[in-house]
Amino acid sequence: MTERRFSSPEEERLWAVEENLKTIREGMQRAAEKSGRDVKDIRFMAVTKTVEPLYINRAIELGVELIGENRVQEFLGKRDALHLDHCEKHLIGHLQTNKVRQIVGNVDLIQSVSSVKLAKEIEKCSAAMGVTTPVLLEVNIGREESKSGFFKEELDEALDEIAGFSSISIRGLMTIPPICENSAKTRQFFSDMYQTFIDIQAKKKDNISMSILSMGMSADYEDAIMEGSTLVRVGSALFGARIYQK
Ligand SMILES: *Cc1c(COP(=O)(O)O)cnc(C)c1O
Repeated sequence: MTERRFSSPEEERLWAVEENLKTIREGMQRAAEKSGRDVKDIRFMAVTKTVEPLYINRAIELGVELIGENRVQEFLGKRDALHLDHCEKHLIGHLQTNKVRQIVGNVDLIQSVSSVKLAKEIEKCSAAMGVTTPVLLEVNIGREESKSGFFKEELDEALDEIAGFSSISIRGLMTIPPICENSAKTRQFFSDMYQTFIDIQAKKKDNISMSILSMGMSADYEDAIMEGSTLVRVGSALFGARIYQK
């Protein structure tokens, strides 16, 4: 193998993003084939928290059409530097009700609706701005205290209530499973989520389109695809390990 030389750390990281993206696309293809699915039915999201616009824009140049940010402030701060003409953006991180006003109208979808109270605030702000906000309900599939989101058995009631909000459009579910010691355990959580998703679909509730099942991250997106994910959210496997600044 020839040794590659880079003129700067930035150049090396830009190259790595390209290589990583190829690897991930291959992984997605492999998982889709193994489970008899069409890879076109699975959307890829680049998770961009802590990542500078330079690298996000490279991912977009390479064909990434969906990015996910965790924090309202960080997203609004970076937004003007991003080439978002052909790229959707979703909020995926925990959202406080007092930040809702700043994000409604600025993202294409909010994946992290974790309470009816939060949904009410999104409804109020969306109505005031004259927009409809698409959302996913976040499910705490492992019933972890450290995580937000609905428990499975709370979903029916929450869906019924939120479906009545005229400025919110429910599009599906999102989850982050517990960290498991092996992929068989992780897959059980994904499979549980898929079943929940399918059960809700079958109920054909009014004003709900259960079409997006957002699950799978860097460590487990192939497992998630094999269990029925329609949207994987990948950060560190694409951009490298995150460096958090205080
Ligand atoms: C950070 C984050 C991801 C991506 O995590 P990686 O392990 O880096 O791929 C996905 N989803 C959510 C909600 C996140 O906060």
